[in-house]
Formats: sequence, structure tokens, C-alpha cells
Amino acid sequence: MNKLSGKTALVTGSSRGIGRATAIGLAREGALVAVHYAHNEQAAQETVELIEKDGGRAFRLGAELGVPGDIDQLFSGLEAGLREHTGKTTLDILVNNACETSATGTAPEDVSVEEFDRFFAVNAKAPFFIIQRALGLIPDGGRVINISSGLTRVANPSHTVYTMTKGAIEQLSRTFARHLAPRGITVNTVIPGITDNGNPVFKIPEAREQMSQLSAFKRIGEPEEVADVIVFLATDEARWITGAQLDASGGSLLG
Ligand code: NAP
Repeated sequence: MNKLSGKTALVTGSSRGIGRATAIGLAREGALVAVHYAHNEQAAQETVELIEKDGGRAFRLGAELGVPGDIDQLFSGLEAGLREHTGKTTLDILVNNACETSATGTAPEDVSVEEFDRFFAVNAKAPFFIIQRALGLIPDGGRVINISSGLTRVANPSHTVYTMTKGAIEQLSRTFARHLAPRGITVNTVIPGITDNGNPVFKIPEAREQMSQLSAFKRIGEPEEVADVIVFLATDEARWITGAQLDASGGSLLG
């Protein structure tokens, strides 16, 4: 335990779902976690309280991504929070998890320019500029973990734009892994499959049954099962892994 004692982490989109489980997992290993959200301040506060109840340390940080000034707002809050809690602005672990998503998707014929731009702004452009800005705070030996989706391995027309953004983040990880290797900073991608993030769709028995069939284990993943993989990548035990894509999809679509 406490493999991340003395470390600091930012998990974007950690008010709920996989991000919340990741923030809790990192804090359980001793990291101080910046719990980031867009609008759901109450959910972010709940994440902070769950961490504190567990004996961990965290602070919440609101900043909508994909809008003008987003990166400045995120980093001014992050640096203030880090300074308040540690006296410095060092960021050891960055998890790019926040995303724009749509449960039902949109047929390619119906995608508007606005929808296309929004998905790319939140899911691809923001992670790039977050990494770019974070590089001034991340020390040698730091960690960057980007979250993709199992959809990059299949063709699902109704999620074309979302999947395009996740393809972009996979390439972003690979190129930054090479770029940052001289500093011992690892950059990896985690690829979740269908994971119960609390969305109402997971309460519909027929939908659950259908989604369960995609995994080799014939069930839906839990956020903690993806978070454990992310936390592992943040530890020293994963120091020899960079530029990798770790599948955390319960063997989805193995055939
Ligand atoms: P989620 O439950 O939908 O939560 C999304 C998080 O991102 C929330 O914390 C939300 O903040 C934040 N967010 C959304 N839009 C934002 C914006 N414009 N600016 C800033 N923050 C924003 O997410 P999830 O399902 O756990 O997914 C987490 C990651 O795993 C994503 O990258 C997703 O693509 C990937 N993934 C998920 C699944 C799955 O089945 N769940 C499958 C494959 C991949 P607020 O609470 O303030 O709205």
C-alpha cells in the first residue's frame, strides 16, 4: 500500500464514473488528488469526501474543457490547489479521462459541424494542451495516462466522431511517449470496454444483457476494474511501460 505516497495527481473528469474510481484508487495509494469536473460540483465534492473518509487527500477543481480559456482556468485552479496543499506546484501524475460522449450516438449523415467540433475540442484538443501545459509541472519520472475506448478496435458508425477522437488520443500517447522518454516520463493509453458509469442505460435489463455479451467474461465492467489498471500505470512498478495501450475491457470482442 501507499505506493504513491508524496505524489500528486490530476484526474480530469473525476466527479463520477471511471475518473472517480481512479481518483479514489490513486488517493488510496497515498497521492494527493485534484478531482476535476465540468459542472457537477456536488458529485466532485462527493468524490473528495469519499477519499477523505478513506483517509486520503484531495481537492476539487472545476473547469469546463472545450471552451475558450479552458486550459488557463484548469491550471490556475490546479496550481493554486497544489500550492495550498503541498507548498509547490509539482504534478507527478496526469490522467486525461474527461470526455464528451453520447449514449446513443449519431448517424454519420446527421453529425453537425458543432457536434464534431465539440467532440474534438473536449476529447482530443484539450488533452493535447493539458499535457503541453502540464509539462512545466511534471518532474522527470512522471506519468501521463490517457483514456481511449475499445471502440477504436471496431467499426460502429453511430459513434464515428467519438471514435475518431479516441484514435487521436491513442496517437497522442504514442508520440508523447517517445518525446518524453528522455525525461523518464511514461505516457500510456488505457482502453476500457463497456463500464457501468451510473448512466441510466445500465439499469435497463435488456440493455445490460446485450452489453454483457461483448466481454469474454459476459458481464459489464465496473469503474474500479479500469481504475486499477490506471493506478498500476502510475506506480513505480510500471516504469518500464511507455507508449503502450493497456486493454481494460474484460476481453471485449475477442471473438
Ligand atoms: P462519465 O461517467 O460520463 O463522466 C465524464 C466525466 O467527464 C465527468 O466527470 C464530467 O464532469 C467530465 N466532463 C464531461 N465533459 C466535460 C467537459 N466538457 N469539460 C470538463 N469535464 C467534462 O465518464 P466515464 O464513462 O467514466 O468515462 C471515462 C473515460 O473512459 C472517458 O474518456 C471515456 O471515453 C472512456 N470510456 C468509457 C467507457 C464506458 O463504458 N463508461 C467505455 C470506453 C471508454 P461533470 O460531472 O461535471 O459533468
